[in-house]
Amino acid sequence: MRSTGDSPFQKREKTIEASSERYDVAIVGGGIAGLTLALQLKKCHPASNILVVEKQQHPVPEAAHKVGESTVEIAAHYLRDILGLQEHLQKQQLPKFGLRFFFSTADNQDITRRVELGHATLPPQSVESYQLDRGRLENALGRELLRQKMSFLDGCKVQQISLHPESDVHRLHIQQDGCEREIQARWVVDASGRSSLLKRQLGLAKKVEHHANAVWFRIGFPIDINAWSTDPTWQARIRDGKRSLSTNHLMGPGYWVWLIPLASGSISVGIVTDARMHPFEQMNRFERALAWLHEHEPQCAEAVEQHCNEVQDFRVMKDYAYSCEQVYSHERWCLTGEAGVFLDPFYSPGSDLIAISNGLVCDLISRELDGEDIEERAAIHNRLLLILNDSWRGTYEYQYPLMGNAQVMVAKIIWDIAIYWAVPGLLYFHDKFLSFGDSPAIAMNLLRFSILSDHIQRFLREWHAIDQRAAYDTFVRYYDFDFMLKLQIGMTTRLSDAEFDTQFAINVRFVEQLAGQLVSTVIEELAHHSQDETVQSRVQLWKSDAFLIELIALYQQENKTNPINASWITLGPQRQEVAR
Ligand SMILES: Cc1cc2nc3c(=O)[nH]c(=O)nc-3n(C[C@H](O)[C@H](O)[C@H](O)COP(=O)(O)OP(=O)(O)OC[C@H]3O[C@@H](n4cnc5c(N)ncnc54)[C@H](O)[C@@H]3O)c2cc1C
Repeated sequence: MRSTGDSPFQKREKTIEASSERYDVAIVGGGIAGLTLALQLKKCHPASNILVVEKQQHPVPEAAHKVGESTVEIAAHYLRDILGLQEHLQKQQLPKFGLRFFFSTADNQDITRRVELGHATLPPQSVESYQLDRGRLENALGRELLRQKMSFLDGCKVQQISLHPESDVHRLHIQQDGCEREIQARWVVDASGRSSLLKRQLGLAKKVEHHANAVWFRIGFPIDINAWSTDPTWQARIRDGKRSLSTNHLMGPGYWVWLIPLASGSISVGIVTDARMHPFEQMNRFERALAWLHEHEPQCAEAVEQHCNEVQDFRVMKDYAYSCEQVYSHERWCLTGEAGVFLDPFYSPGSDLIAISNGLVCDLISRELDGEDIEERAAIHNRLLLILNDSWRGTYEYQYPLMGNAQVMVAKIIWDIAIYWAVPGLLYFHDKFLSFGDSPAIAMNLLRFSILSDHIQRFLREWHAIDQRAAYDTFVRYYDFDFMLKLQIGMTTRLSDAEFDTQFAINVRFVEQLAGQLVSTVIEELAHHSQDETVQSRVQLWKSDAFLIELIALYQQENKTNPINASWITLGPQRQEVAR
């Protein structure tokens, strides 16, 4: 006699199957990546039937929710212009006054003496960016999904994802209110953040060389960095705008501390450190973090201490950077946001990568739902995202020791921001990441740019190793250098395809000129002003490096027709004092 009894697992599958629901796309995780992807997909492909499953119950708390509060131009453009969230951003969040940096002096007791890099006037509105209260944003996005009649299940956990590429649908087992049920979906997107459900399941995790830690907390009082001194000259540096609305970075060797204001009235404070230079155990509890601040950033410590009874949370994250072997597959699954990769928060690129990734995911899903074979396109998008992530990591990897060096870091930050506006910024604002595979010129220029970028990050490390002079009393403004405003505005200028190709090639050539100027200026200055043997032997090595020789020649050539003021490399036109 044949057994009629199903195994317990088969029985469970059958019960679940009876109540299963079917979607075109199931998104696991309703954080910023998952919620924005759902909105974008609905815009690209209105007929699609989308589900977002989020573990946490909505509304989530304001202020003390998640990090990812500071945005830069790509993410701001994504949220404001591509997703149409302008009203929310302008009414419910704060406008950001750019990235601002204060470099260490001997004791960091007086903010006015620290070299400051930032804006003195507001950036043009077309490049406005925002400080995000993440809880407030996620609540608004959740409501918007429901308003647009998408399925948003909050307080509901995805227990398991079973991929079935050979059939029409994948299966997700979800748990809500103690009951389990099965969802079927043609596409599964893992946006579960660090839970990384699919990445773990498929064994795609990839370690990186960048080892850094972070701790952070929110305080229910808007600490204002501008109140740390009443010095009228220091106050008068800012002509239009508020220092407190910047993402303020307090910089020192191997670390930076962030101060980010939130629209709900709180302030977010974070300490980010190179794991090799600042042991995690010195800051992994609130009282230890406060002691660490007293040692390295006493003015910040005092401001925090005055509001200790208003501390809203305290979180830690050890060794936060990682990569991934694969993020998109033609077998109808994708990873986006932190479920895939994470770099470093220094220039707030987290939501930029989400914006770029969501665009690529949207493109794959829309085409596949329309019946297109996406195998080749999925491979190209996958390669692009991973190359972008891996080459961007060079900006941070091994660069934390430089953070105490005002002159090298000012040059590095201006270089990093200029190339961000010139290359990924221009590509993103013109929707060119999507056509990467169709344009050999873009691919070639991107490759050239990526090689250049690696060389310059190494050059900056080598410069730091031999030149660590102290600097004080200087304010460097981004717009002291004509090319900065030109590149920033240039991102947003609408260009035809042909104009874009020309502009992109011009920008790549321009960043090569900047790179050549950096190398040439540093060599010139050290060759003439230092007798030190180590310095002179490093200068000789640079002078015989074929790549650098070519860059200097290019700079000398271009500078005849397009001269650039070199003071971005030497602490700006207002440099007051640099002591060896
Ligand atoms: C220290 C630090 C500072 C940062 N600062 C910035 C910054 O200033 N600017 C910036 O742009 N980026 C910043 N980032 C990066 C930013 O935090 C991330 O890019 C962003 O939060 C990732 O969003 P996400 O939606 O991928 O993940 P999350 O926001 O973590 O969302 C994932 C969601 O999935 C849900 N989930 C998990 N498992 C399940 C499950 N099984 N079922 C259902 N739901 C599930 C979770 O509840 C969560 O809501 C920072 C990162 C770090 C580490």
